[in-house]
Amino acid sequence: MNHFQYKNGQLFCEDIAVSDIAKEVGTPFYLYSKATLMRHFEAFDSGFKDVDHLTCFAVKSCSNIGILALFGELGGGADIVSGGELFRALKAGISPQRIIYSGVGKTEEELHYGLESGILLFNVESEQELQRLNRVAGDMGVTAPVAFRVNPDVDPKTHAYISTGLAKNKFGIPINEAFDLYVQAAEMANVEVQGVSCHIGSQLTLIAPFVETLRKLKVLVERLANQGIRIKYLDLGGGVGITYDDETPPHPLEYAEAIKEELSGLDVTLIFEPGRVIVGNAGILVTEVQYTKVNRGGEKEKNFVVVDAGMNDLARPSLYDAYHGIQTVKENNGPRQVVDVVGPICETSDFIAKDREFPMVEQGELLAVLSVGAYGFTMSSNYNTRPRVAEVMVSGRQFAIIRERESLESLIQGETIPKFVEK
Ligand SMILES: *Cc1c(COP(=O)(O)O)cnc(C)c1O
Repeated sequence: MNHFQYKNGQLFCEDIAVSDIAKEVGTPFYLYSKATLMRHFEAFDSGFKDVDHLTCFAVKSCSNIGILALFGELGGGADIVSGGELFRALKAGISPQRIIYSGVGKTEEELHYGLESGILLFNVESEQELQRLNRVAGDMGVTAPVAFRVNPDVDPKTHAYISTGLAKNKFGIPINEAFDLYVQAAEMANVEVQGVSCHIGSQLTLIAPFVETLRKLKVLVERLANQGIRIKYLDLGGGVGITYDDETPPHPLEYAEAIKEELSGLDVTLIFEPGRVIVGNAGILVTEVQYTKVNRGGEKEKNFVVVDAGMNDLARPSLYDAYHGIQTVKENNGPRQVVDVVGPICETSDFIAKDREFPMVEQGELLAVLSVGAYGFTMSSNYNTRPRVAEVMVSGRQFAIIRERESLESLIQGETIPKFVEK
């Protein structure tokens, strides 16, 4: 359930007509519903209210500080994957003691920044990273709190590009090798072993892979305890899927029940890194029809709806062949035709929808691309020198621009025409 619904034939976000916002901010723009964001955060978080836990929102899925701040106020933390995301999370007012740092390629500067900020946990993904972290912490005269991201070799049964927990993926430390690394880390002067972490993939629609992972992690935690290495934090990652089309992902409460059942007596603080399940269906992309056209001459006629949002604004369809629902902003129950909804970018892969049955639309009409709250704006780029679009948040009858549309000037900021003096 979300707060994007038709009222009197007009698409509303909470209590504002989407078309009224478009009039003020222009198109395209990302539009988030504050009530939906809060509701989805609570839906996830409340499932674990009876156990020690911390919900660290995966910043990369939707990183606007206006949104991070909201989750911070609700008691959430942040799961970051770069120094840039650490900067954002801190700017959003999230306590460093609620920030955990994931990612396979942390640089020396990034480790330094994390240590200096006093974050809760580094999810270390290799032996070399462990050694680097130990050295940087030593140079700074501090101790680094460490969890190893283990790769449990569980098939998440999701899209190949977003599966991360298989042995063949680049992520994490193979679970069979992790034990030795823990023992090694326990001997190091400037790291303190505190956790076990994992993240097996994204857009999971089954609970079983999560449960299978937890079983494997429990074996490791118990083995470590026998070795005198106490694990305080068990980080189960993110990955719970959402409905884009006809998927039937578990409800967050079902997920929570399954996890808690499997936990049976393990004395740890649970950490979660959800992204998509919280923000995915809390955002839409509003775009305007520029042209409609029919290309004849092929095997069959093709109808195109050319809109002002392109693959630089929403990459998921071209990148993952992802499905996003599209609705007209003005309710349209008229005749339908099969169309490709495409953007203005000079690439054939620049599409939002292919062979979609859709009402006949006209130039100037507004369309809403659904379920783009996660990996929507954050994956956008300036390709074709297109300013990144505005981000807007609605609360009840009010809206706020939480990121301004980029200006043309900002697009060449930092560029120069060099003046070489020939000798
Ligand atoms: C991307 C990512 C997440 C979030 O995944 P979702 O599928 O959006 O929940 C969590 N943890 C790590 C380490 C990630 O890379």
